Parts: sequence; structure tokens; C-alpha cells
Amino acid sequence: MSQSAQEANVESIAAPKVQAAFDRLEAAYRRDPVPSLRARLESLRKLKQLTKDNAEAISEAIRQDFGHRSRHDTALAEIFPIVQLVTYIEKNLKGWMKPERRPMPATFLPASAKIIRQPLGVVGIVSPWNYPYNLTAGPLAYALAAGNRVFIKPSELTPRTSALMNALFTEAFGPDLVAVVEGGPEVAAAFTRLPFDHLIFTGSTNVGRHVMRAAAENLTPVTLELGGKSPVIVHESFPVEKAANRIVFGKLINAGQTCIAPDYVLVHESKRDALVDAIASEIPQRFPSLAANPDYTAIVNDRHRERVLSLVRDAEQKGARKIEINPAAESFDNGAGKMAPVLLLDVRDDMKVMQEEIFGPVLPIVTYRTLDEAIEYVNARPRPLALYYFDYDASRADEVLERTVSGGAVVNDTLLQFAAETLPFGGVGPSGLGAYHGPEGFDTFSHKKAVVKQAKLNAAGLLSPPYGERIDKLLKLLMR
Ligand code: NAD
Repeated sequence: MSQSAQEANVESIAAPKVQAAFDRLEAAYRRDPVPSLRARLESLRKLKQLTKDNAEAISEAIRQDFGHRSRHDTALAEIFPIVQLVTYIEKNLKGWMKPERRPMPATFLPASAKIIRQPLGVVGIVSPWNYPYNLTAGPLAYALAAGNRVFIKPSELTPRTSALMNALFTEAFGPDLVAVVEGGPEVAAAFTRLPFDHLIFTGSTNVGRHVMRAAAENLTPVTLELGGKSPVIVHESFPVEKAANRIVFGKLINAGQTCIAPDYVLVHESKRDALVDAIASEIPQRFPSLAANPDYTAIVNDRHRERVLSLVRDAEQKGARKIEINPAAESFDNGAGKMAPVLLLDVRDDMKVMQEEIFGPVLPIVTYRTLDEAIEYVNARPRPLALYYFDYDASRADEVLERTVSGGAVVNDTLLQFAAETLPFGGVGPSGLGAYHGPEGFDTFSHKKAVVKQAKLNAAGLLSPPYGERIDKLLKLLMR
């Protein structure tokens, strides 16, 4: 059987299964379309509790899926943020659920206006492998808070974590509230064709296009949390050691497999060598060894490791200078899937490393002569998910923020825009569409219904035909 015939076959087997799970969720929604605040808080409590109770098991599943995943990377980036996020939602949910009064235009007084936020119905979540728990449980928390039923398709590249989430969520919530289907692109394709009331996808920009196309058939609204090349700009006045410390943190957590990791650095030409030296000495301080170091995460699988290594080879062949940082001079050929961090100097646009999202521990360093040139460099490329700017001058920082468009931004640090759960998280243009986190997360999974209530005594009849001179006079008055 050809590969496409095989895929079609898997898809035709998967389709009835995903359809049945979806139908069950939809029937449950029709029976109980507006879960109470209490029921939603109970779901959130369960999610928080199962996250805490199973922290070790989740960490171990991810570790096995990655070959090696730092236990602390998992605690800091998957477990703790979900506990914190759910706590934040619990504190705010009652307020978010309240009808929101809006002013009524004076012409129509004493009628009143408000917005009612309603559950949408059945929400689909397609999640990636790089933070498989956080990027599934985060959207789940918001979708449940907004009163929806949820169907999840986690990544096939982290199968142990996906199976664990399936078991944990099914047990905690039951198939009338949360269902999980495991499987690869074929299952994903059948999944995204379902007539969801909302679909949130976290993954690559390319697959995002397929998802949006499939959703368009049902006019299903989508939130797309995508990737791209997130730049760092370091101003020449900023201490390079401080910048190096935050860049290395943001780049090497999860070995660079982070959607908002710094992808490349723009540094003033007079400070390039100082910054490179600072990064090269920062890494051994954080990671005195790599291959044998439990703090340093592996690349998720051989295919991805080979992809990242080939970006480096391609750049080298085209004239880039490679600085590999391997503090304990270890070998990485033992099949454990790790690779040493690499800095690339003298990179050019024709190198693949400057075209694709890197998603690994490789950091190209680009120089600029003026800040305008750095801003122009960013603006000439697809709008990134994140931008990091290092500068203590607040007005210059404001100018950079104003003149560049990115999903989010951090001044003088990295990654914190995701960690601050009060802020909406999402991309712009090719880095994404829509957002969750913050109150915006609740809105993403709610229908905001505009409601007007007419007063018992009102003057609406004055605006009815027969129009004639009376209405002309009235309109003249209103438009004064
Ligand atoms: P991916 O796009 O390959 O896969 C993501 C999910 O999509 C998986 O569950 C996969 O099974 C599914 N999928 C595959 N083919 C599909 C299809 N035709 N239709 C529907 N779904 C399909 O992404 P990945 O490799 O898992 O993750 C890495 C990418 O995700 C990077 O580009 C990264 O920047 C991005 N990312 C973005 C965010 C964010 O929040 N913006 C977070 C993490 C990762």
C-alpha cells in the first residue's frame, strides 16, 4: 500500500472513533449547556489536584518520551505553571462569568445593554510535543472554566505523556466532559474535520494552515498558537553578562525546544565578541557538563536532532563560524539524543538556520550598526511570536516595542510573557491567531452575546413610520 493510501486507511479507521467521542460530548452539551460556577470550579479543582498528585508520573512520562527531560524543566515549565494558572482562573472565574454592563446610547435610553458570556459547546484541542502537559492542560483549564466540553488530540511524538493524560483526564472528568484521542497526523486530520464550536491548535505554522483549512469547512473558529523565529535585540549600552544570563536561560531550557525561545540574537557590531564570550562563559556556569547532566534536556527524537544538526552543517558549509560549547568535552554519539549548544557567527539569509524556526540549542548571532537597522531586520521578516529587547533606557525600549509587531515581548529578560498568566498569550500573523491566558483565555472559549433589554416605558415607537416631518426634525436634533 502506498503511504497516502495507508494514511487514508488509518484515517478511515480513526474517523468513526473520533466521531463517536465527539457525538457523546455534544449530546452532553445539549443536556447541560451551561454548567454552574460550582461545577466549573469543581472541574478546575480536579485538574489542579491531578496535576499535583501525578507530578512525578507526568515528569517521568515526559522524561521517557524525550529520552531525557530535566525533571526541573518539567517542574518549572509544565507542573508549576498549570497549578498557578488554575489558581488564577479559580480566583477570577466568578467575576468573568458575571454579565458585563455596557453603556446604552442616549438615544435608546432607558433601554440597557450588557454582554453575557456563554459556553460555546464542544472545544477541540490539538497539542504539540515540546511542552506536552502544559500546552494541553492550559487550554483545557480555560475551556472548562468557560463551561465547555473538551476533546483533546495530544502529540504522537510524546506517546507516553499522551497515554497518561488520556488515562488521567478520562478518569477525572469522564467522557461526557473531556475525551482524549491518541494518534498521528491521520487521526489529527479526522479530528480537525469535526464540527467543533472552537478549535485551539498549538504547533507549527505549516500544520496550522491545514488546521485552519479543515476548520473552514465547518466555519469553526480557531485559535492558532504557532511558532517562528523570535529575535533578541541587545542594545550596545546593555551589560553583555546580564544579557547572556537571560538569553542562555531562555534558550537552553528544554534544550531550545520552546516556541518562545530566543531564536537568534541581534547585537551591535561593537559588542558582538563581548556577547559571544559572555554566552560562552555563561553556559558552562549553568551546565558544567551536558551529556551526563540531568539538568540538560535531550532533543525529542533522532529526526529532530538530525534536523537541528543539519541546520548547523548547512550554515557551516555556507561560511558561518560555529562555536560549539561542550564544557566537559563529552561525546554525544551515545544515542541519548542530546546535543551541545552551538553559537553561529557570520550567518546570512541564504542559510536554512536563518529561514526556519530552529527549535534546538543553536543560536545565530547577527550584528547591526544602528538600532534602526535592527528594527528594520525584524520588520523585514515574518512577525514573530516573541521579541526580547535588552536596554535600560525606557524610552528606547518603548520605541522598539512600538515599531515592531510580535505576539508578545519582554524587556530585559526572556520567556516571562508566557509565565505571567494575567497576560494574553498568542502570536500575530504567521506566529498565530487569537490568544489564551488572562481574561482573554476565558473570552476565547466563550460566546460574548450582546443583549439589549428594552424598558417598560420607552420612546422607541417615535422612530416608527409614518416618518414624515416629525422624524426629519428628530434626526436633525439627534445629529446636531
Ligand atoms: P506540529 O505542527 O508538527 O504538531 C502539532 C500537533 O498537530 C500534533 O498533535 C500533530 O499530531 C498534529 N497534526 C499533525 N498533522 C496534522 C494535520 N494535518 N491536521 C491537524 N493536526 C495535525 O508541531 P510540533 O512539532 O508538535 O510542535 C513544534 C511547533 O509548535 C513549533 O513550530 C513551535 O514553535 C510550535 N509551538 C507553538 C507554541 C505556541 O504556544 N505558540 C507552543 C509550542 C509549540
